[in-house]
Amino acid sequence: MRGFQRLPEPQILIDRKNAWLTSFLASGKKRPDSSKYAHNSIKIQLNSMSFNKCFYCETKLKGKRKEVDHHIEVSVNPNLSYEWTNLYLSCDNCNNKIPHSTISINDTLNPCLNTDEEIMEHLTFQDEFIEAKNNSQLGLRTIQKYRLDTEILDTRRLKSLKIFYKLILEIKENQINEGRDFLTDEEINAINGFKVINHSFSLMFSVLIEKFNF
Ligand SMILES: [Zn+2]
Repeated sequence: MRGFQRLPEPQILIDRKNAWLTSFLASGKKRPDSSKYAHNSIKIQLNSMSFNKCFYCETKLKGKRKEVDHHIEVSVNPNLSYEWTNLYLSCDNCNNKIPHSTISINDTLNPCLNTDEEIMEHLTFQDEFIEAKNNSQLGLRTIQKYRLDTEILDTRRLKSLKIFYKLILEIKENQINEGRDFLTDEEINAINGFKVINHSFSLMFSVLIEKFNF
């Protein structure tokens, strides 16, 4: 999870959300119409906001199933069904979150409200495995709520981590071959590229890079 800046509300919501909401509330249906709240133009704006990543786990969503998630669930507050600030983008893993009745979003970190620094105070990693930092309850609840410790996410993170370790090995080999113990600017940039916000699992790489102290 990283802190994302919300982009401006898509025009289609500005124009139609009131009519959509009135129609949904009058319909007696349990779920709002996904062809409306997950309209392509809304997905595009959410995608831009998160650099094509799941808001919760940072899986890159290109070529993967992406879901528009109601951060405050429809069953909790149907009035927020078409509210821009309540629409998040999530992967198949994280959209299958634990319900509000079991874990409230008030007890979890929020990628649209918390800063990177705040998130890093509560979440950490041992290799590809996510953990609550210093037994933080907020971190633990966040992991549980969005199922950030599932095998599917461990596998995705490990895949990304292997690419990172391959780079580190190449750098070590180059250092040995060239008889130097420092990193070139190019190598530093390549390492730091993993922790920039548009990279998948950038929080994990930020933690690891800090630990390795390159
Ligand atoms: Zn996810």
